[in-house]
Amino acid sequence: GRSFRPEGTKITFPNGVVVGGENVTIMAGPCSVESKEQILLSAQQVAKAGAQFLRGGAFKPRSSPYSFQGMGLEGLKLLRDVSNETGLLVITEVMEISQIELMLPYIDCFQVGARNMQNFNLLRELGYVRKPVLLKRGIAATIEEVLLSAEYILSGGNYDLMLCERGIRTFETYTRNTMDISAIPVLKKLTHLPVFGDPSHGVGKRDLVPPMALASIAAGADGLLMEMHPNPDKAMSDGAQSLFPEQLEKLMEQMRMLAPVV
Ligand code: PEP
Ligand code: MN
Repeated sequence: GRSFRPEGTKITFPNGVVVGGENVTIMAGPCSVESKEQILLSAQQVAKAGAQFLRGGAFKPRSSPYSFQGMGLEGLKLLRDVSNETGLLVITEVMEISQIELMLPYIDCFQVGARNMQNFNLLRELGYVRKPVLLKRGIAATIEEVLLSAEYILSGGNYDLMLCERGIRTFETYTRNTMDISAIPVLKKLTHLPVFGDPSHGVGKRDLVPPMALASIAAGADGLLMEMHPNPDKAMSDGAQSLFPEQLEKLMEQMRMLAPVV
């Protein structure tokens, strides 16, 4: 609850970036790591736009087993290499307990995806790790369920936790999900944890990402997780919701008018 830390949790990363402080933190990059060239170019574009974290999945939770499943360990190594070159931090998704040890040397933050928000064994294990975790809201999870999942990680002793609204499934089909902007101020009120918005998965269409990113910041988000691809039309996953690099740059300027973005 908020009363545990009325001033809110602040998470300091190795390069001095603080999440949950005065500044809004931007995590951007492709849905998946696809190749050395693709992730290096992505990192350069993300750094140029002024974001702090490079995102990119090496282990991908795909709806179909026949879709691209990610580059695995090779993808983790590429993420670390290009982030060191560009001065970015790395956030990437962990899908199962056996991946935790493997990932630790290569990453700065674990991402728990919507599909694993109630993978309680994974959450419990992440409570014992001393590395920050960003926990996404499940596809049909209530706020109460998000909070109880967060409690699995916190109760293990890992307080470096961020929550993320990424859209929920409703009767509406025009957008991929329904981005519940109200979850942002609700979670800010109920917890001391930094709260992020993921407008990319929230709406699923790139032209709707900038307005929902700005809305998330106006609603009090501590940061945003967004998909950007050097060539979205060729992306191996989530191309339709990935921003073009120029769009990310323009959006960063607009966000700076609303809040300090590091
Ligand atoms: C992702 O960030 O690429 C992802 C799979 O997100 P989610 O878990 O929110 O669907
Ligand atoms: Mn994605």
